[in-house]
Amino acid sequence: MRPWNFSAGPSALPLEVLQHAAAEMTDWHGSGMSVMEMSHRGKQFTQIYEEALADLRELLQVPEEFDVLFMQGGASAQNAIVPLNLIGRRDARKADYVLAGIWSNKSHKEAQRYGDIAVAASSGAQADVDGRTQAPWTWFPKPADWSVRADASYLHICSNETIGGVEFPDWPDMKSLGAPEVPLVVDVSSHFLSRSIDFSKVGMVYAGAQKNAGPAGVTMVIVRKELIGHALPICPSAFDYANVSAAGSMFNTPPTYAMYMAGLVFKWLKKQGGIASMEAANIAKARALYDYLDGSSFYVSTVHPSYRSRMNVPFFLKDESLNAAFLEGADAADLRQLRGHKSVGGMRASIYNALPLEAVQALISYMQDFERRHG
Ligand SMILES: *Cc1c(COP(=O)(O)O)cnc(C)c1O
Repeated sequence: MRPWNFSAGPSALPLEVLQHAAAEMTDWHGSGMSVMEMSHRGKQFTQIYEEALADLRELLQVPEEFDVLFMQGGASAQNAIVPLNLIGRRDARKADYVLAGIWSNKSHKEAQRYGDIAVAASSGAQADVDGRTQAPWTWFPKPADWSVRADASYLHICSNETIGGVEFPDWPDMKSLGAPEVPLVVDVSSHFLSRSIDFSKVGMVYAGAQKNAGPAGVTMVIVRKELIGHALPICPSAFDYANVSAAGSMFNTPPTYAMYMAGLVFKWLKKQGGIASMEAANIAKARALYDYLDGSSFYVSTVHPSYRSRMNVPFFLKDESLNAAFLEGADAADLRQLRGHKSVGGMRASIYNALPLEAVQALISYMQDFERRHG
């Protein structure tokens, strides 16, 4: 058996998907070619692309009024591509950002190069959140406290902060925030396909594949068609949503192998029963781990219970001098990549779609055993 891989990204892929890709590595469906060797405009790759697109639309029930684009550059490139495409929609060239962790801060910083950017809300201070004192970046600002400028071109949030382990799934309706003309733009990179998306509330979502949807190299952009076509003149042609959309994600050579792999992941998800079954499994996995953390006095979880991520679970050993021993023992128990991000410290277990409940149970039993030996 392979070790369980808790990496935050690039992260574990379903073994079945890897084996499927391995089996057709040198000869895809009798074509005599690897997917890597095919023209992106040929009939074989066109079939791969069209199936991936249709499967993704079906899995997430993407409404007709949205385009689905496969792009390159990762979510980090979208930090620039989003303002380059959307900020020019309105004359004021304004955009507002909710800050709740490292990724939304990076998005905010990059956007400042392209317009009048403001912070709508931030969790970057200690705060009393529903009666609990929360450290910076361990909670999410409530929509009622966001201040959104009515003439902004968009409002940006990151709905799952991969590093801090803060998830915010209950997106507000922009009408209720008094900004009906401001589309919500959401970086969903690290919980994409782990739960359903209510598209009635969003203008656009984007996700790098390597957290939950495939290998690094392809970025999915799902954007309302009416928002496309306002790119600033300085926007690189290959990053102009209008060009990418008009060319069916083939304005230039797309990341063909990454798209193929993501397509296999979409098929695997359909076989698991789709997003609803995946979400139920993710709830069960997260509950098992958080329940264990809550019941333990040896380990601590610092994220506010209302905003705990189902995908990325940071936790700390009360006695941090045991960190190295914990990681060494985990490795020996075939539990990999549990070291927390350097900015947060401690441990982090990323439990994406490809990790079954069995992996979480293996982690918990190792943690229990470690506590027995060192507690
Ligand atoms: C990983 C991640 C990114 C950055 O992705 P890159 O592909 O490295 O650009 C951005 N946002 C979130 C939420 C992420 O998890």
